[in-house]
Amino acid sequence: MEQYDAIIIGAGVIGTSVAYHLARLGCTRVLVLDRTQIGAGTTSQSSGILRTHYSVIENVRLAQASWKAFTDFAAYLGDEEASAGMVKCGYLIAAPEGAKLEPLAAALRAQQDQGIEVQLLGRSEASSLLPIARFDDAALIGYEPEAGFADAYLVATSFARTARHLGVKIMEGVEVEELLLEGGKVTGVRTSRGVFHAATVISTQNIWARDIERWTGIPSPVVPERHSVLALEGPEAYTFRMPVYKDLGSPGMLYCRSYGGNQMLVSEGIVGETLPEPDNEQGDISMDYMVEIGEQVAERFPSFDAAGVASSWTGVYDVTPDWNPVLGRLPDVQGLVVGYGFSGHGFKLSPAVGLVLAQCALGLPTEVDIQPYALERFRNGHLLTGKYGLGAVS
Ligand SMILES: Cc1cc2nc3c(=O)[nH]c(=O)nc-3n(C[C@H](O)[C@H](O)[C@H](O)COP(=O)(O)OP(=O)(O)OC[C@H]3O[C@@H](n4cnc5c(N)ncnc54)[C@H](O)[C@@H]3O)c2cc1C
Repeated sequence: MEQYDAIIIGAGVIGTSVAYHLARLGCTRVLVLDRTQIGAGTTSQSSGILRTHYSVIENVRLAQASWKAFTDFAAYLGDEEASAGMVKCGYLIAAPEGAKLEPLAAALRAQQDQGIEVQLLGRSEASSLLPIARFDDAALIGYEPEAGFADAYLVATSFARTARHLGVKIMEGVEVEELLLEGGKVTGVRTSRGVFHAATVISTQNIWARDIERWTGIPSPVVPERHSVLALEGPEAYTFRMPVYKDLGSPGMLYCRSYGGNQMLVSEGIVGETLPEPDNEQGDISMDYMVEIGEQVAERFPSFDAAGVASSWTGVYDVTPDWNPVLGRLPDVQGLVVGYGFSGHGFKLSPAVGLVLAQCALGLPTEVDIQPYALERFRNGHLLTGKYGLGAVS
């Protein structure tokens, strides 16, 4: 019988972050279990965009705390060889006249109130940062210079590597089949490789969080939703110096970033395709859908009218009813802590979420208040719904 202080189910960027932070807080008898491999779940599908821009202030706080880790990741981990693969190119967000304008103005003000550097740009200033885009319809443009994109897989493996150095055990290819309970308290897990004991279990299972419902009877309000990502090869370069662009004026609320050379990574920021099961297989992207995205891109980036599709893939979001995660203890099961439902924006929150879940698991005060993220909000109606409508910009 193997006894641990804490067991983490899932070695994505969230689970590995929790493991690292537990160890940093002095809890090193930790076991991480993943049925596949570190980072091989939805983390490997991430577009990697890092920003603190949100219309939900709680998310701004988590993203701001996370940015402090990303901006000097090696120092944060205490490992000079660690890297997040960061490209600090900034984040540009623009809205035309219409429904998104006031939410954008309010969100930018809220960021500034939090002490985040956010600039309001004129159209020509925006054009000089991103000359391949047109801004003639922009009524408001916000620019967050301390933002960009990074590599979610690299971040997960870096958290895992440092956690291992600190004494954490990570087992891959081990499926958790059952949460073990005695008198309403967690005692461990039954797995494909036997039983492991701990009085604290942290589930960071993403789209597979419905296992918790099966094991405890407590609903996990999470739906797997497939999203498509395209890399378009244009006639002009989208360099690493050019900012990530969020186009609130496009029907799909597109997000775009450099994918190196003349390539642009682009995807929609709205509701995707609901899957019946958390099936992580690649899905087909129809020609009609590619044309739909291509038209929106060409509308904003005129020269990309001539772009071709260099590559494409799909990924699955763990979507909750308000597009925000469930974080913290489940009060009806002593010893169970959860972090799931990141709804397509969990990477940028992963350092702070790992810290607060570790603090929560150890019974410590959390760096950022996570009470608003409690599961109870779906019963008491205190939802964290964003002002831009449903979608990962939240
Ligand atoms: C297409 C796409 C684009 C995205 N773009 C961005 C972006 O630009 N910026 C951003 O911030 N976020 C983005 N995200 C979201 C972000 O990538 C995720 O929120 C984050 O990676 C989730 O990490 P995780 O650890 O919760 O989940 P995962 O990486 O999915 O890890 C969960 C792990 O749990 C394991 N597991 C589940 N059940 C069990 C079990 N019973 N036993 C053992 N192991 C189990 C799985 O094998 C898996 O490895 C994007 C997501 C997608 C899909």
